[in-house]
Amino acid sequence: MKLWNKNMLFIVLAVLTIAIPMNASAYVPYYYKMIGGISPGLYDNNATPYNYYGQMFYMDYVAESAFTAWGVATTKANLINADSYGATGTIKVRSYSDNYGNIDLYGWAEMYNSNNVRVNGYRGASGPSSNYNTGSIYLNVYDMAESSLNFSQMKAVAIHELGHIWGLDHQRNGTASVMNDITYISNGWLTPQSDDINGVNNIN
Ligand SMILES: [Zn+2]
Repeated sequence: MKLWNKNMLFIVLAVLTIAIPMNASAYVPYYYKMIGGISPGLYDNNATPYNYYGQMFYMDYVAESAFTAWGVATTKANLINADSYGATGTIKVRSYSDNYGNIDLYGWAEMYNSNNVRVNGYRGASGPSSNYNTGSIYLNVYDMAESSLNFSQMKAVAIHELGHIWGLDHQRNGTASVMNDITYISNGWLTPQSDDINGVNNIN
């Protein structure tokens, strides 16, 4: 006997969608958040171009575009590039990229306390277990290349991982969200959606 099928999932999602009032917050904040709030502050983009078997992956531009997307969309996640002329403040978020190998991860986020000890699961396997001072995102060229992600999709991965640093957990209730880790790429939710923006603007 088959207890579950795709049609049933569709019905559940449809009911959920109807049940959520227009202005309800569907975003899922972590229990813990960045100490002192996300901004004001700086980000340090350490992502670098990578030559993957002759194809260039401009991860520096991918990460930079993701920071910009959040900064433009929200009133809270509008950090300044630490390399910008005259920029002063605390570096709150760092971005990195590399060929981390076949790990079935396009990217992940890590949070650190004031002693620079990671407070969430290895490679983002879990959310933060305490409030945190800084965060880093990691972008994996290997799995992105093997899945033939285009620039907008790679940028969406960086936007998703930054969403974790801002304090958003996964959101799988069907609302358009870059934080829906199952469907954000297949649904084309590649930039901060209104629910994501509401979430970040209300976290800190
Ligand atoms: Zn995620």
